[in-house]
Amino acid sequence: MNESYDRDNIFAKILRGELPCIKVYEDDLTLAFMDVMPQSDGHTLVIPKNPSVNMLDIAPADAAALIKTVHVVAPAVKQAMQAEGIQIVQLNGPTAGQTVFHTHFHIIPRNEGLEMRFHAKEMEDPAVLERHAGKIRAALG
Ligand code: 5GP
Repeated sequence: MNESYDRDNIFAKILRGELPCIKVYEDDLTLAFMDVMPQSDGHTLVIPKNPSVNMLDIAPADAAALIKTVHVVAPAVKQAMQAEGIQIVQLNGPTAGQTVFHTHFHIIPRNEGLEMRFHAKEMEDPAVLERHAGKIRAALG
């Protein structure tokens, strides 16, 4: 693990159960949950359970588990949100736009003519996030 990993970052607190999240998927090595400031309806985050700052310091096994979960969750988000496309985004370092320093992938539904909302800007109503999460969980089966 990178020495600069902050054990009190938001996602570390979510993993320890100190902060809530609206979960859609979990396995031994990864967790997927709704982004509280979605750039489009259904915006989902996938994180590894083991600590790493980003893709530049993550252990290979954690990276493999992470992309495997993205591969499972992304089609479910697409189906649940009836999206035409899915943007998979991953930022490394503040200059690249990373704001939470625990590795994560964004799964962002895209539809023709619908602009993405700003990054990490506007909090969504938790009831709306719950409704979207319910659809994604159902699509995951
Ligand atoms: P980054 O900028 O690091 O690529 O993305 C961090 C993401 O985490 C942003 O999209 C932001 O909306 C989201 N986020 C920030 N704080 C929280 C939180 O407390 N809970 C959840 N579920 N997402 C968060």
